[in-house]
Amino acid sequence: MPLTPEEFRAKYPILIGWINKTVADHSSLAKPVSGLGFRRLPSYFSAPLLASSWVVGVARLPMPPLSQMGFTQFTEWERIEYGGITYMDTFFVTPGEVANEALHFHELVHVIQWRVLGAERFVAAYAEGLERFGYRSSPLEEMAYGLEDRFKYSTEVFDAEEAVRAALRS
Ligand SMILES: [Zn+2]
Repeated sequence: MPLTPEEFRAKYPILIGWINKTVADHSSLAKPVSGLGFRRLPSYFSAPLLASSWVVGVARLPMPPLSQMGFTQFTEWERIEYGGITYMDTFFVTPGEVANEALHFHELVHVIQWRVLGAERFVAAYAEGLERFGYRSSPLEEMAYGLEDRFKYSTEVFDAEEAVRAALRS
């Protein structure tokens, strides 16, 4: 059963509370992406964006206990092992991914999505996409994987922030 708008509004504060606490709890460990020494990212993202997007290296990614929160339709998403996850302007990466520039590119796309949509619309759109299409084909992931592939398989530089904004408008 898809989440109704009423159910979403009732449960969203619990989820965003968990996200805010998780980001705050790790803030002392967070480093700006601009300080990580990646060579290609500055060609695709503005300096202010890289300086205000934060990375936290963790042994295990902090995942919201969605089922406990009453979001019971996301068991597929909860079972997948991810290399990174983005909450607002902060993303978490596992030890195996700290040098993976393409993964950082992917998570930066999510940072822009969070900013452009705002937290509540991002979470609503992400949840709806998971319900309707599953993780990999959900629109916000399709966008992130599609742009990540352009980054990985081509050397043609593009403005990633503008690409995300244009995709969100369409
Ligand atoms: Zn993603």
